[in-house]
Formats: sequence, structure tokens, C-alpha cells
Amino acid sequence: MSAVGSAQDFQPLDSGLVPRFAGAASFMRLPIATPDQVDIAIVGVPFDGGATNRTGARHGPREIRNQSSLVRRVHHVTGLSPFDRVRAADCGDAPVNPLDVAASLVGIEAFFARIYEANARPLTAGGDHLVTLPILRSLAKKGPVGLIHFDAHSDTYDSFFGNRYNHGTPFRRAVEERLLDPRRMIQIGLRGAISDASNFDFARAAGVRIVFIEEFAELGPATVMSEARTLVGDQPVYVSFDIDVLDPSIASGTGTPEIGGITSREAQTMIRLLDGLDIVGADLVEVSPPLDPTGVTALTGATMLFELLCVMAGGPKAEICRTTTR
Ligand code: MN
Ligand code: MN
Repeated sequence: MSAVGSAQDFQPLDSGLVPRFAGAASFMRLPIATPDQVDIAIVGVPFDGGATNRTGARHGPREIRNQSSLVRRVHHVTGLSPFDRVRAADCGDAPVNPLDVAASLVGIEAFFARIYEANARPLTAGGDHLVTLPILRSLAKKGPVGLIHFDAHSDTYDSFFGNRYNHGTPFRRAVEERLLDPRRMIQIGLRGAISDASNFDFARAAGVRIVFIEEFAELGPATVMSEARTLVGDQPVYVSFDIDVLDPSIASGTGTPEIGGITSREAQTMIRLLDGLDIVGADLVEVSPPLDPTGVTALTGATMLFELLCVMAGGPKAEICRTTTR
């Protein structure tokens, strides 16, 4: 808690007074504020300079803001509003240079460092998955953190076209830079053909727990999340959600779709089971509006951000979700 003001000062626009299609398109129709005013800073990183194939995630934050006007304030399972429990606001977008990856990484890290120094926690809409690297650089000031990572891909390649900083490499760089503790890392939902059978060697050798989609299908969300919770324990953990973990029949507006993915409900169940963990920040990345003509991928992203906000805001322990969502 860093400044004056209560959660009541940071409420979404009342849809009984201002209809959902009106007003400024901030995240969840929240006020605009600075990080020192809030507990949770909801921000965008409009950057896709790390995309190796199909681009467009630079437009993610703006369209997620737009679709987030459909998200209402009270979680239907817990009956709680995160906006009554924490001060959350839209704190704008990180500065980026679409023509300069290195400069963008520096600018993004500095933006998140201000959030960290204000004792706020970031909840981020990407952007491609490279944006998680500068976020982790800003957060892991007191040592490596754990990671719960939902994705169709491991994102632990070494390089593409000789370039070490792209959306296929952030978690390898983060382990190398000691931002993440690989023994407290779990990757959930991985699948799809790979370019080389050695693609997972780095993660495996580092001790990362990989849950491929086949194992996920066998175990189910509750068992997988029980293991994830044990793995990260009560130490700080970051949560990264790549929208391509979902099946492309649900969320096709993303650069690297892989068939055979998880459902929205499975994802919601797993996010709810993060409740009570020491979440230092979370992101939702890889929504590409130009590939999302119906807007449903951005709506899904906005809704997952709301689920993440609810667990970051705290509430009843996950037992309630276990008994009501399975
Ligand atoms: Mn990814
Ligand atoms: Mn992915």
C-alpha cells in the first residue's frame, strides 16, 4: 500500500449510468492512474517485434481494452469483486519502438521498474511473448522467481536467424539471467510439431516441469494445478498466459496456433486454482487482433485477465473453485 485512496476510488464505470459501448476504452472501464496510486497496475505492452512469423500482437492491448468492456465486476463463483479488494487501474502502455527491439526491451523494463518501485503488481496485456523478459528483469530484483506458464510452446529456444531476443526465447534468457528458478517453473499445455527433437533439451536439463497436452488431458486441471502449487510453494511466482495454450477453435487470433489445445473452462479452472499464491505479476500475451475478425480471442484474453485479477486480489481459498467448477 503506497499511497492514499481506497479501492472505492478505483471502480469500473457503472454500466447502469454509462452503457458498455460508451466512454473511454480503458481496461475493464477502470480509471486511468499512475502506479503509485494502486495495488495492481493493469498495463499494455503494444509490441510484436519479437514475433517470428505471423505478427499483429502489437494491437493486442488496444483491442483487449475494447473487449474488456464486456467484463462485469463480480466473479460469479466467489461472489466477490476484485475492485472492492484492491486498488486496480489502467496505468497505460509501456513505451515501445516498433523498429528497435533492443530499445523496446530497455523501455519496457524501465516502465515496469516504476511499477515495482511503487509497490504495485503488474497485470499485463501483450504483445508477443518476448515482452515477458523485460517484465521479469524489472521484477526479479531480490532473486529468481517461480513461473507458472500456460502455453502451447516452451519458448526456450536459443535463437532464430541468429537473434537471441524473440518470442521463442524469453524463458531461456530469463533462466540464464537468473530471473527465474527453473526448479520452480512449470509449463502447461505444450504441443505441436517441433523443428528439432532437441527443442526441449534446455528446459529439461534445467529442471523445468513440462506438462505436455497429453499428460494434461490424462491428469486434468485440478491435479496439474495441485502439482504446480506444490512446486512454486509460498515463494514469489509469476504467471504467464500465452493465449495459444487454448485450442484455436476457441482462440484463433494468435500468431502461432496449435490444434488440440485446452478449453476456456479448463484455463479458467486452472487460473482460479492459483488463489493464495504469492503472485508478483501476471501477463496475457499473443492476442493478435488482425487475425481475430470476430474479436473473440481478445474477449477471451480480457476475461482471462479478469480471472487473473481476481486471484491476485485475493479471496476465499481455491476450495470453492474446486467444488464448483469441476
Ligand atoms: Mn509463448
Ligand atoms: Mn505459444
